[in-house]
Amino acid sequence: MSSEQPPKRPERAVKRAAPSAPTAAAAPAAPHVASALAASSPWAYSPAPESKELALIRPRYGLFIDGQERAPASGEVVVTYNPATEEPLAEVAKGSAEDADRAITAADRAHRKVWSKMEPRERAKYLYRISRIMQERSREFAVTETLDSGKPIRESRDVDVPLAAAHFWYYAGWADKLQYAVPGRRPESHGVVGQVIPWNFPLLMLAWKIAPALAAGNTVVLKPASTTPLTALLFAEVCQQADLPPGVVNIITGPGEMGMAIATDPRVAKVAFTGSTSVGIKIAQGIAGQGKALTLELGGKAANIVFEDAALDQAVEGVINGIFFNQGEVCCAGSRLLVQESIAEEFIARLKERMTTLRVGDPMDKNTDVGAINSRAQMETIGELVASGVAEGARLWQPECVLPTRGWFYKPTLFTGVAQSHRIAREEIFGPVLSTITFRTVDEAIEKANNTAYGLSAGIWTEKGSRILQVAAQLKAGVVWANTFNRFDPTSPFGGYKESGYGREGGLQGLHAYLRSS
Ligand code: NDP
Repeated sequence: MSSEQPPKRPERAVKRAAPSAPTAAAAPAAPHVASALAASSPWAYSPAPESKELALIRPRYGLFIDGQERAPASGEVVVTYNPATEEPLAEVAKGSAEDADRAITAADRAHRKVWSKMEPRERAKYLYRISRIMQERSREFAVTETLDSGKPIRESRDVDVPLAAAHFWYYAGWADKLQYAVPGRRPESHGVVGQVIPWNFPLLMLAWKIAPALAAGNTVVLKPASTTPLTALLFAEVCQQADLPPGVVNIITGPGEMGMAIATDPRVAKVAFTGSTSVGIKIAQGIAGQGKALTLELGGKAANIVFEDAALDQAVEGVINGIFFNQGEVCCAGSRLLVQESIAEEFIARLKERMTTLRVGDPMDKNTDVGAINSRAQMETIGELVASGVAEGARLWQPECVLPTRGWFYKPTLFTGVAQSHRIAREEIFGPVLSTITFRTVDEAIEKANNTAYGLSAGIWTEKGSRILQVAAQLKAGVVWANTFNRFDPTSPFGGYKESGYGREGGLQGLHAYLRSS
């Protein structure tokens, strides 16, 4: 039995970057806000920690195969850590190709003998039951998610968990209406579906993938990310509690190679992956020629476009939400701010003022806006890209804020004077870092927004409805939000263009991905 060594404490990437601008460089109106939040102020927020006791984290977890917890073939475990404290949370089974084989065997049997034979309305009842149990155990899910991923409890409680439960509820409704999803044709399930998910929305990505797969009559083998396995393993308990037939859902933890073993197994008829573009490409290459259905939800470098007629304070809130939600570790994050030159100075001043009020720190505190970065490796990626921005000549600004002394935290960061050729304008940073570019005309805004290898999402801020329609139609992005950002709903499809992948998740389109029709 081996276990991974605790990660070394990262050198603060903030220190490697250029120093923050002095306070005087902040927006003129900032001092009253900043002082209102200073620790000594009577207006300061008192700590409001959520109780860790709500998460009943066990010391060790096995693999969930055929309805039972099983030991991995290797007998090995890995440790999952709390990114906010660097403390170990639990030991988790280190699965391998051998375990993937066992899980796929169970899923294949469950599909042929049970799930595909079951009346659709009976399948729907299981999905409703799962959704209900997730709602009943929502605080346990939220606390477990925050401890394992570093995201603020406010977000896991108010966004991740309710949305995950809503996906099961929504797709439960489709389970006995599949003939209406593909009118005039006969809907059929693929069979066994292999799913590999990332660490930024561990439970939500699980729900995006498992709910439509089950509703369409497939069975599932899912691999969570190695740094965030706990809510997926809690979900395995929910499957048991819901009395889901054994083998319908199998959850196996293990390294990336095991993910590839799932994807390439000939018995897996459909593969769904969310993560980096580089791994997405490897999976597409790995299964090429096997005739499998594939959906890839990969990276992004979204433009959040603010026109001069926008309601500025509302737009500031949207830009803040667009880049600092989940520490910016969001594939559709609005990581490029495109602001019209005529209002750029005013807008940046208001943005800086708002950034000084962001509370960075303990993710378990209900007041926290920006929590911990998920892993040391991700901290290093962010630090490296921020350093490249400074080296290439962009201007870095960070609000004054005190970061916790332990854990992986990164200051909210704003770059101005960014050229489109800079790496911080082209590459996905996946951290709380915003790159600002200005434009003069509508056409220039569209051209700059589309000047990216990605095409997942975009935002438009203007009071003119006609401009929203005109610009949205020309943006090469799968999702375009207007006067809002990062809005998700189980009924809305989500997915990208170009290097952001292909296929859609959510809504009717997300159901189609799990159906064959003849
Ligand atoms: P990865 O793409 O490596 O991880 C996503 C999932 O794929 C994880 O479950 C991972 O497993 C698994 N995986 C890794 N290698 C393979 C493989 N060869 N075959 C099959 N599955 C594999 O992302 P990272 O964690 O390395 O993050 C790197 C960058 O990717 C981030 O900085 C960000 O830019 C981007 N990213 C984008 C996401 C999105 O939502 N679009 C989500 C996460 C990252 P394991 O965890 O065990 O390595």
